[in-house]
Amino acid sequence: MRVSKMFLATQREIPADAEIPSHQLMLRAGLIRKVASGIYSFMPMGYRVYRKVENVIREEMDKAGAEELIMPAILPAEVYMASGRWDRFGPEMFRLKDRGGRQFCLGPTHEEPFTEAVRDTIRSYKQLPVTLYQIQHKYRDEKRPRFGIMRCREFVMKDAYSFDVDEAGLDVSYQTMYEAYNKIFTRLGLDYTIVDADSGAMGGSGSQEFMVKSEVGEDGICYCDSCGYAANEEKAVCVAPEMDQAEMLPVEKIHTPDVKTIEELMAYMNAEPSAFVKTILYNIDGRIVAAMVRGDRDINETKLANLYDATEMDLASFADVEEITGAKVGFAGPVGLKKPIDVIADLEVASMKNFIVGACETDYHLKNVNIGRDFEPTKVVDIRNLIEGDKCPKCGGSIKMARGVEVGHIFKLGTKYSKALNCVYLDKDGKENTMVMGCYGIGVGRTLAAIIEQYNDEDGIKWPVEIAPFKAIVVPTKVTDEENMALAEKIYKDLQDRGIEVMIDDRNERPGVKFKDADLIGIPVRITVGRRASEGIVEVKLRMTGEVSEMTAEEAVNKVFDVK
Ligand code: ATP
Ligand code: MG
Repeated sequence: MRVSKMFLATQREIPADAEIPSHQLMLRAGLIRKVASGIYSFMPMGYRVYRKVENVIREEMDKAGAEELIMPAILPAEVYMASGRWDRFGPEMFRLKDRGGRQFCLGPTHEEPFTEAVRDTIRSYKQLPVTLYQIQHKYRDEKRPRFGIMRCREFVMKDAYSFDVDEAGLDVSYQTMYEAYNKIFTRLGLDYTIVDADSGAMGGSGSQEFMVKSEVGEDGICYCDSCGYAANEEKAVCVAPEMDQAEMLPVEKIHTPDVKTIEELMAYMNAEPSAFVKTILYNIDGRIVAAMVRGDRDINETKLANLYDATEMDLASFADVEEITGAKVGFAGPVGLKKPIDVIADLEVASMKNFIVGACETDYHLKNVNIGRDFEPTKVVDIRNLIEGDKCPKCGGSIKMARGVEVGHIFKLGTKYSKALNCVYLDKDGKENTMVMGCYGIGVGRTLAAIIEQYNDEDGIKWPVEIAPFKAIVVPTKVTDEENMALAEKIYKDLQDRGIEVMIDDRNERPGVKFKDADLIGIPVRITVGRRASEGIVEVKLRMTGEVSEMTAEEAVNKVFDVK
């Protein structure tokens, strides 16, 4: 491709609303263009990379024996009603009506239509197992679309679904996908880790996520170096601490006027945050629930939502807090609530004695509160996030924390969807049985962005060869110089003849401008045809390592061919 003819739109400035490197670089290199919040176009250069990522995924899925098909993105409501997800998806689902008033949605994930397709096609155990997949657009009206194509509202997912005769069969299908995923992410050059994941709204018995370690990751990963335990923070299990054996002291009501923050309160009461228990009110599908964790802990909203099988969960409104506690926000506690609501206490809270809570009265706190004597929680369960240094639930070792970007997710669904949609087969004895399912997703765009997060420097992107938009770029430093240009054209042609995807920057621009663009876009090999063109000598620079060397034009062509 000739750069002079290309639709190239690089930009030097860092776009104002792009917070993370991959988003900034994708905009600067002209790979994507924002159309609306969380909705992007892939421009030609970006689409080349996108197709390569997609193809790596496709090749490994095919090798693993999965069959590709494509389903519509627009689906009738009935498909999701039978499984209950028409309601369950809540506001994340894009919904629309046709001219006759019939309800449709833009598919957020396709368990239901795949289950129906298999149900209507497969009769006998002899036709199983089967794994089907598609690489297709998904639509989710995310609460917080951000980071460019990392979390958007229209995105491409590779979603696969396996159908087996029993759990043992599912284990095999799941393992096959697990291995295919490892091959995919390894080929894509990613440094990733596999963690136990929350099965959340999908139901099912087990799931793992493929996480690309990255500072900008939205997910917390808890891991243990001693035993290899690794789990998404959403799922990581807390170990119940030993019971505090202290004597219960009499409750004291303390006047705490004008203390707004937990720090002010600590100073005022001369106590550590671990002596407090915070009570936070949530609105879970319209019902108010109080959740209690130690003062220095964070509530794990996934664990709490799972407890209620929730579709929508938010902090309770100020009005609700005031009505239920009879006090201004900031003084909620489990004692003296004005209305009966569920009080969920974290495991750790249940091990504490004589703690401090809000008094359900404006400007007051209670000291020396104890479970059993002063209040009885509705439930005592694990509802907090693990933190660095916590005990590993598997071996008791010390938990470490990292951030990660979830690029892939594999689930053992079991019979949740096959049961709901009556997806059955006849076994050897002619008896009807329910199929056992798995599902397996990879975000194509998110994966692409994660690759950029791991491969960039201050000059731009450093594509691994496998997915680079072009493998090489020939840069003549002076297009008006015939000799210079002739050699550049020759190298360009030789590379093309050898099947290399190559660009030639034939623009009448300063070399500095061309070098900046090539570095920004991240082309793996740059061949500069400059001062020594008359001797047939060129300069070859590798973007990944920065290595520069001079060689003959012929050697340069061979070098490009050999770079892996
Ligand atoms: P998250 O927790 O990040 O919202 P999820 O659990 O909702 O992800 P899945 O339903 O498991 O995601 O989807 C499978 C894959 O699709 C994810 O691993 C991710 O790579 C990708 N994905 C999910 N949501 C988005 C999104 N909003 N934008 C881009 N990719 C996404
Ligand atoms: Mg999500």
